Amino acid sequence: MGRFILLGLIIVAIWFLFFRKKNKANKNNHIESFDMIECDRCKSFTSRDDAIFANGRWYCSKECLINKD
Ligand SMILES: [Zn+2]
Repeated sequence: MGRFILLGLIIVAIWFLFFRKKNKANKNNHIESFDMIECDRCKSFTSRDDAIFANGRWYCSKECLINKD
């Protein structure tokens, strides 16, 4: 009987850890999605959701990505 309780506690502990981690990650993503990214070419600011990341740099649009120096 004690074994089952221990097993149950371990499962709950693992579930709790995963749930907390997932929750934390979602929260971080939510904050990050509101971050403003500076375009490497035209220096205008755009939200991370709209920005394009390529070659280690951020661009506000495909035009800036294609027309980069
Ligand atoms: Zn741009």
